Amino acid sequence: CGIVGVASRRDIVQSIVHRLTMIEYRGYDSFGIAGLVAGSIVVEKDVGSVTEAVQRGQFSSLSAMQVAIGHTRWATHGVPSRVNAHPHLSYDGTIATVHNGVIHNHLEIRRELEAGGVCLRSETDSEVAAHLIANYMQKGATLLQAICWTCARITGEYALGILCSADPGAIYAAKHKSPLVLCKHDGQTLLASDPVAVVDPETDGMTFLEDGDVARLQADRADVFRVGADGSPVPTRRAKTT
Ligand code: GLU
Repeated sequence: CGIVGVASRRDIVQSIVHRLTMIEYRGYDSFGIAGLVAGSIVVEKDVGSVTEAVQRGQFSSLSAMQVAIGHTRWATHGVPSRVNAHPHLSYDGTIATVHNGVIHNHLEIRRELEAGGVCLRSETDSEVAAHLIANYMQKGATLLQAICWTCARITGEYALGILCSADPGAIYAAKHKSPLVLCKHDGQTLLASDPVAVVDPETDGMTFLEDGDVARLQADRADVFRVGADGSPVPTRRAKTT
């Protein structure tokens, strides 16, 4: 239902939580945040309202993090529950993903992953994306290649936010038929499914991703690639620089 992401060189826990509350108005049944703390992915997620979670101090135990992705979920596949809430982690814990939309061929991919020994935890269509990326990387792909191949493999509608412990200074995004926007704000590069989460007087321009775009966001820049015909990443433009 809603995606936010932040890449910075400062602690952004406040920023990601605040931006998550800004997209809550679109509807939600659960929420979650994943960030990198000392090289490992940390996830905080639950059912219910982000605002209420803030009020009861649910995020106060989160350690300082400089990159993070967040999600508010409106369930399409799988009941609203903590385990079905996003972000979803890959089987090896190296990838976290948030997803808006519906992955149409998720059952076929789920069966393939299970045949390969991957144990899926949730009932969602979304979880397969995290495992696919990890699988491609295990077969030797770079993170960017693995994301592009995952985009080539899945069908349906998606906006994806991705975090990987192997690239601790960046977050990634991919889009097909679900909106995503990038912008700069006060030393942070921001990602959101809805401009409302990133618009304020100091926001520096906005780049709306196009279908087939994959982006890498760092504190001071965002690079946009296209998924090429063979599934490889093709550089397109540098969206924002300081
Ligand atoms: N289809 C996904 C799910 O049910 C994502 C739903 C959404 O866009 O919030 O978990």
